[in-house]
Amino acid sequence: MKRCPTCNQQFTDEWLTFCTHDGTSLIEIRGPVEPPPTFAYPPIPPTVSRSEEPTLDFPDAYTPPPVPVIAQPTSPSGWQPPPPPFIAAQQQSMAAASLVLGIISVTLGWCCSFGLLTAPVAIALGIAALVQIKNNPSRYTGKGLAIGGIATGGLYIAFLLLLIVIYGMAILAGGLSSL
Ligand SMILES: [Zn+2]
Repeated sequence: MKRCPTCNQQFTDEWLTFCTHDGTSLIEIRGPVEPPPTFAYPPIPPTVSRSEEPTLDFPDAYTPPPVPVIAQPTSPSGWQPPPPPFIAAQQQSMAAASLVLGIISVTLGWCCSFGLLTAPVAIALGIAALVQIKNNPSRYTGKGLAIGGIATGGLYIAFLLLLIVIYGMAILAGGLSSL
């Protein structure tokens, strides 16, 4: 593929060296498949194409513009590998926070009713983490941690309800016996 810098006419004939319209020397245009691997900055195609647009008429600057456009479809596949570990770490930390809060609930939580605050948060965080894992399993991990957080948080609340029921029955039994 060759291009005339004067009239921007493109020629597919490789044997042509001059423009058929104005006789200007044609410029070699590289195939669209070659440039993407060399350009390792797909996340910023808008800024690249915008900055190159004014210099579109210059022969040297013409080749970059098509690159970002062509690089866009290929960029997700080349750009995706790095983010998953990063986002996975974030989401795993959220699930881990759920588990930590759940464990705090069933251990330190018995002191001063501290668990009344941490247990619901542990369950909420665990559920939120599980929802994200379910919606995007390839990106989010820490399912076991999230389930652990919900389980420990739930355990605390279950024990708390059990205690309330026992106290309630004791009060009820005391009330009945006093009649
Ligand atoms: Zn021409």
